[in-house]
Amino acid sequence: MNKVTVLVVEDDAPVRNLIVTTLKTHEYKYLTAANGAEALMLAASHNPDVVFLDLGLPDTDGIDVIKQIRNWSNMPIIVISARSEDEDKIEALDAGADDYLTKPFSVEELLARLRVTVRRLSLIGNEGNKDSSVYTNGDLKIDYMAGCAFLGEEELKLTPMEYKLLCLLAKNTGKVLTHTYITQNIWGRSWDNDIASLRVFMVSLRKKLETGPDSPQYIQTHIGIGYRMMKAD
Ligand code: CA
Repeated sequence: MNKVTVLVVEDDAPVRNLIVTTLKTHEYKYLTAANGAEALMLAASHNPDVVFLDLGLPDTDGIDVIKQIRNWSNMPIIVISARSEDEDKIEALDAGADDYLTKPFSVEELLARLRVTVRRLSLIGNEGNKDSSVYTNGDLKIDYMAGCAFLGEEELKLTPMEYKLLCLLAKNTGKVLTHTYITQNIWGRSWDNDIASLRVFMVSLRKKLETGPDSPQYIQTHIGIGYRMMKAD
């Protein structure tokens, strides 16, 4: 039996059943809620490991559910939404969601998102045992104290801006960070030309970091939304 418990928040019964059947088949534990009020109650009483959250709920907007949960918990929230517009995803991510899935989605996609999140959870769980001043992910190593990063044995020659970006992504490994979130953290503001500069810095960072630019191993691009540091296998 999988030790991970997933709270499934979805008012559409066929979609909810599909998710539940998938979780059952893969031996995840689960709880279900059909509206925002139930979701908040179950989140508080059962403290699930991961939440799958539909944004269009009958009683409240899913964004409000995210904001309420974030008042007291960092539990990973994966938004599931029929709304394919990027704006809703960005709003959900900025409210504190970790990832998103757009309906209609495949069972494989759902499981892949869940695996990414669970891997991130185990990463957080291991932090207590590790020297937290050093980050390691595959061949990538960041020594926060020394302020330098390595790929294998070789030190990456990063500009201060590239280093800041890399640290921000590393500290949020597994999580999709929006352009707004990143620019606000790096420059303290988010203007259109900051987002344009961000793209330029990302290109140069990835040239130094990724060995195969066509199949990035570390930084994943979410077009129109942002970037994510992947957990390397
Ligand atoms: Ca719905």
